[in-house]
Amino acid sequence: ESLEDLLQRLCAVVPDYPEPGVTFRDLTPVFADGAALRQVVDALIEPFAGQFDAVAGVEARGFLLAAAAGYASGTGVITVRKAGKLPRAVYHEEYQLEYGSAALELHRDELPEGSRVLILDDVLATGGTLAAASKLFADARVEVVGYGVVLELVQLHGRAALAGHRVRSLLRLS
Ligand code: 5GP
Repeated sequence: ESLEDLLQRLCAVVPDYPEPGVTFRDLTPVFADGAALRQVVDALIEPFAGQFDAVAGVEARGFLLAAAAGYASGTGVITVRKAGKLPRAVYHEEYQLEYGSAALELHRDELPEGSRVLILDDVLATGGTLAAASKLFADARVEVVGYGVVLELVQLHGRAALAGHRVRSLLRLS
């Protein structure tokens, strides 16, 4: 079974969540499967091997991927968090979600200027979340070497919002 087929099989489709008309893709069964989790993490970091100094995860599901990727690659893990969660001085970025708006924050002193980060999340939809994360690292003078996501919802054109950066996605659905 290919990784794509495995992900297709494990990804749960939830109609009308979190609100009517939205179809939510639930990847928690992928995280719960040891073989799938290992293949996912290896596949996400493989194109960027040797090119990053840290892995950033976007709260909350991105944390799971980033922690595993940081461990696998021997790099540290950076948390990009929802507003108000980080205790020290932060960079702050507002953005629009598929449903609603939100803000992300990054500790100001988390990475030295000029270091290179790989940003991970579970799903790429409109790209608003990863674009906001990217701006936080731009503020910090940290280079984004690319993005890795398990699932890309291609009809929402998230890649366009991330123009100029490499995107590794493991399953593309329309
Ligand atoms: P975007 O900002 O690209 O529109 O949305 C991506 C963000 O929203 C990610 O952090 C992702 O976790 C969450 N998200 C949006 N749609 C879905 C979905 O169908 N399934 C899951 N698991 N997360 C989603």
